Amino acid sequence: MARRIQEDHCSFCGRGSSEAGILISGMEGFICCDCAQQAKRIADEQLSVSRKSNVKEELGKLPTPKEIKEYLDNYVIGQDDAKKYLSVAVYNHYKRVLQDPNNEDSVEIEKSNIIMVGSTGTGKTLLARTIAKLLKVPFTIVDATVFTEAGYVGEDVESILSRLLQEADWDLEKTQRGIVFIDEIDKIARKSDNPSITRDVSGEGVQQGMLKLLEGSIVNVPPKGGRKHPDQDYVHVDTRNILFICGGAFDGIEKKIAQRLNTHTVGYNSVQNMMKIDPNDLMQYVQPQDLKSFGLIPEIIGRLPVLTYLNPLDKKALRNILTEPKNSIVKQYMRLFELDGKTLTFTPEALDYIVDQAVEYKLGARGLRSIVETIMIDAMYVAPSSRHKNFEVTLDYARQQFEKSSHLR
Ligand code: ADP
Repeated sequence: MARRIQEDHCSFCGRGSSEAGILISGMEGFICCDCAQQAKRIADEQLSVSRKSNVKEELGKLPTPKEIKEYLDNYVIGQDDAKKYLSVAVYNHYKRVLQDPNNEDSVEIEKSNIIMVGSTGTGKTLLARTIAKLLKVPFTIVDATVFTEAGYVGEDVESILSRLLQEADWDLEKTQRGIVFIDEIDKIARKSDNPSITRDVSGEGVQQGMLKLLEGSIVNVPPKGGRKHPDQDYVHVDTRNILFICGGAFDGIEKKIAQRLNTHTVGYNSVQNMMKIDPNDLMQYVQPQDLKSFGLIPEIIGRLPVLTYLNPLDKKALRNILTEPKNSIVKQYMRLFELDGKTLTFTPEALDYIVDQAVEYKLGARGLRSIVETIMIDAMYVAPSSRHKNFEVTLDYARQQFEKSSHLR
């Protein structure tokens, strides 16, 4: 009697191919589709269990909002509101990133990108940079003014992600958890309230382009930056878990805030409201509608749900910036001298003088360093070869050095 040709069997359930249907072959056996599906379910469950414990572990490692703020306090003077908003937003962002994406029952936490409004040199970039340092995630700063709508001269918005990829050493996974700081977001405000005949390629056009990055989608990024090219292979970057922090000076927004507050304060309980408002610091009352009046499109504003502001820096804040932060300017110069075995000191009057100059020249915190540099240049030139161990910057010395260089300018 002729033997039947032996049929293949699933190595897991033992069924033959006539009963089990398609069998997938491996090195030493077969698996049927039912068993493969079952195996996937088991694997998913196991992964989910281990992911949950990883999440707990990672969250445990994540600093709490309070700790984030305390860390920021070491480097950034004042700006308590902005620090609080940032700490909470960043903490929640990471909770969201660590959540199990396969758990369909869980409440989906939406991304909370941040927008910071405040004059130039008040610490917006410093805040973003310091947070990124703490969290050890890829971080990049981009300037919104360099972008134009796709197809026009200038950079495409996708290059933001190329830079983040570069920061993450082309590790896609890391890139997708990074932080992007978009500076000067106010400079891409819509140029006029009326849609014009000519296209607004560096304003509204760029805002439209940025939408897809901010909302979280898969973006095709040219790997080496630059323009998209049809023959190029793209890196597909998922921006869902990339945190965008935008900053802008929004010069003149106080007027819009004042207008809104004025119209709102007319009527019942207006006197009470008026009393509460500090006309010298209107920035603290900034609301999303003010950004809209300034020229950001509502879709962008909607994707930047955390809005916070930075105070202008007064003399006291500038004085603190000079000496207090862990790597304050004064401490940096002291360290430079220390490396030569010398001791550098500043008298309080000299420090006040530096602050006064920064205020007078309207340079804000940004100017402090250049003023100190001007004052210190001669001292740094002679100190290493001098026999004197101590060097004190007095008011007279500071004034003499600064005025000397001002004459030269
Ligand atoms: P912007 O708000 O324009 O982004 P930056 O964060 O770049 O300003 O600030 C410029 C420099 O001024 C910083 O590198 C830092 O040295 C100093 N600075 C500004 N604001 C603060 C602050 N609140 N605390 C400490 N240093 C500050």
